[in-house]
Amino acid sequence: MKYGYIVDHETIIDEVLVSYFKKPKSYTTEDMCEINSHGGNVIMRKILELCLKNGAELAEPGEFTKRAFLNGRIDLSQAESVIDIINAKTDREAKEGIKQLEGFLAKEIKEIKNKVLDIMTNIEVSIDYPEYDTPEIMEEELKTKMNVVLKKLEDLEKSFANGKIIKEGIKTAIIGRPNAGKSSLLNAILKEERAIVTEYEGTTRDTIEEFVNINGIPLKLIDTAGIRKTQNEIEKIGIEKSKKIAKEADLIIFIIDSSKDITQEDYEILDTMQPDKTIVILNKIDLGQKIDRNTEKINKFHHVIDMSALKRKGLQELYEKITELFNLNEINVENDIVITNERHKNQIQKAIQNLKKAKESLDKKMPIDIIAISLKDVLMNLGEITGEEASEEIIHEIFARFCLGK
Ligand code: GDP
Repeated sequence: MKYGYIVDHETIIDEVLVSYFKKPKSYTTEDMCEINSHGGNVIMRKILELCLKNGAELAEPGEFTKRAFLNGRIDLSQAESVIDIINAKTDREAKEGIKQLEGFLAKEIKEIKNKVLDIMTNIEVSIDYPEYDTPEIMEEELKTKMNVVLKKLEDLEKSFANGKIIKEGIKTAIIGRPNAGKSSLLNAILKEERAIVTEYEGTTRDTIEEFVNINGIPLKLIDTAGIRKTQNEIEKIGIEKSKKIAKEADLIIFIIDSSKDITQEDYEILDTMQPDKTIVILNKIDLGQKIDRNTEKINKFHHVIDMSALKRKGLQELYEKITELFNLNEINVENDIVITNERHKNQIQKAIQNLKKAKESLDKKMPIDIIAISLKDVLMNLGEITGEEASEEIIHEIFARFCLGK
């Protein structure tokens, strides 16, 4: 790192530190330097203009990472993780991104590809020297090896459900009749957990999506604006609307004021809820409970919690239920490889299909080169994840999502 001045002819522009990264030990593997100036718009622009005047070129969004990929320092899945890290909303998500950046996924894919290559070598041998190995023995061996690969691919595919939760949060709807305690619950969660709330523009114009991170559980709250509104204007949630929200949600928290008798409307809304993704909260237990949780309608919900949103009782149980419902304890961020990227999942699914095709051909005793073709497709599918086989178009699309300077 050198200390000095940026000068334009005789004029000093700023006092700076310049770091020099000698190739190949730089982010892009090329010769690079970074200028640390005092910052500020005017100075930064002047330095930039001066660099451009002296032959520098302005980088495209994502160009640094793209060069790192094209020069072979990182693979495509690692490059993609850079965006994930920048956009991470929770610790877990950031950790997944870092793991991917370290190359865990790339390594796993490489191992699977080696296994497929090994199977292909076996096949080639039998094409070239049909007198070796009796076909039956070879068939069994091939099948065993294919099953090992299939299991690995299926595990990766399955991990996507968790990966999606880590990345996008559990889409959660808090619903219930006016005055049941929806906003009290929301406030209790927000206060108690000092939850990090991130607000996003919703997909429809006037909705706000809030992202709440409780105990590492990422909840994406749906229609919270609606919840807050009900405090002032008594708005009926309505059965139709409940149905619509329930359909969208991964998790429904249905609140009933249990100090009063259950209403017909509560029953009707309950009827439209899917028990496996609904947690029923019997709120206001501090006022004494009038609702019997053993009634038939409530009984069919396996997840019922007594709560006092006002006194903040029952919150812990709620978190435990959510953790249990989504198997969140099973996500081992440190060790397991979790697929968080839709593109990767699609490629893995294609690889699974092609591997199954290869197995089928083997079962049907098809010519061995037919099996080899399906296996080659598996390699292609996996190669698109790490980038060896990715087309210009895919690569362009991925880096277009980067921001300037990354
Ligand atoms: P919402 O219309 O469903 O959002 O309901 P609110 O959260 O606004 O609550 C309606 C009223 O019930 C407010 O006066 C709250 O203070 C009160 N409330 C909410 N939860 C409890 C509770 O657990 N116990 C008691 N005693 N009152 C509660």
